[in-house]
Amino acid sequence: MQTVSSTRPKARVRHTCDCCVRAIHPGETYGRWFFVDGGDTWVWKECAHCTAFIGLYDLSESHGGEGYDRDSVSDAAQDLPNYNLGPLSVRHAAQYLMGWTTRLGTLLPIPESGVSDAGD
Ligand SMILES: [Zn+2]
Repeated sequence: MQTVSSTRPKARVRHTCDCCVRAIHPGETYGRWFFVDGGDTWVWKECAHCTAFIGLYDLSESHGGEGYDRDSVSDAAQDLPNYNLGPLSVRHAAQYLMGWTTRLGTLLPIPESGVSDAGD
């Protein structure tokens, strides 16, 4: 698998995050990767929330360094509470599984590390 391009465009139309399946709304910055593998090509679009989440918890390595897909990130998010990384990690995992939106559809803030307010 080869990455042909990796960009961070601002959405002009509505896209769907390939990682959490939420809508990426016009005006949001998202990640866009173009891959080639043999004769196959595909585009992976990822919301800024998922990119931050995957980076915070090294979830891209959760698949033996072969990259990740929706299933591997979803599995990793469900496993995350078992790693005792603190309540913030549990909250982030739950937010990922909710597609980064509240039940009323409000977009949540992009996940950040809570190092300064961990309190332990
Ligand atoms: Zn996403």
